[in-house]
Amino acid sequence: MSEPKYKRILLKLSGEALMGSQASGIDAGIIQRLAGEIDDLCRAGVEVGLVIGGGNIVRGAEKASEGLDRVTGDHMGMLATVINALAMQDALEHLGRPVRVMSALKINQVCEDYIRRRAVRHLEKGRLVIFAAGTGNPFFTTDTAASLRAIEIDAQLLLKATKVSGIYSADPVRNPDAVHYPRLTFDRVLTERLAVMDATAIVMCRDHDMPLRVFNLNAGGDLVRIARGEDVGTLVTNGPADGPAAKQG
Ligand code: UDP
Repeated sequence: MSEPKYKRILLKLSGEALMGSQASGIDAGIIQRLAGEIDDLCRAGVEVGLVIGGGNIVRGAEKASEGLDRVTGDHMGMLATVINALAMQDALEHLGRPVRVMSALKINQVCEDYIRRRAVRHLEKGRLVIFAAGTGNPFFTTDTAASLRAIEIDAQLLLKATKVSGIYSADPVRNPDAVHYPRLTFDRVLTERLAVMDATAIVMCRDHDMPLRVFNLNAGGDLVRIARGEDVGTLVTNGPADGPAAKQG
């Protein structure tokens, strides 16, 4: 394959992406398939950082609505992301891919601490880095962790995997008239409250000029197509510099 368009990408997967048709937890077949897609992205010559959510195991806000202390619930949620990260590390290592899990919370017996310079060194050496435990702080999400880490490691692109191919005017599963947006600006995502990532994550990307591409994880091969520079899903940027976003965003 020719040189990829991007040197370094940060990919965000939700915990739910690992569930498959199960009600919770990790589906072994699904995680293997995802690991294969991510490994293909690495083979295409891209340095890959990965943030995985924990919603397939615990969400702090849900626990709080059941009466649990919110901060405790969020700590549980962050630990859930570590479980997912370890599972993904294992699946990738089975494919021969070198992987390091770096946690924002100290859990030294199971993974490394997140240290930015060390993370960048791992990436430069061709190791995939999974950033676990979100931002390490309650009241945040792994979407925000993904934008934060993308900016910190100087990624050229933040990729958010969803179940549909990009951003639509409404939920395309429920509304057949929903319109697909190939290009958007961060400001439009915020003002129209388009459900893609939480506002904190979008504002981080906007303020630090981190392009975001939203794509369908279930469309096999999309990751490699994106690495080649193909226009898959929806690209969100600050606009004018990217031409089409200025017109449509
Ligand atoms: N979480 C947190 N701080 C962070 C990231 C995550 O407290 O920086 C907690 C929060 O409780 C959240 C849970 O971890 O509900 C799982 O993360 P998230 O909901 O973002 O996972 P996803 O929806 O992507 O699976």
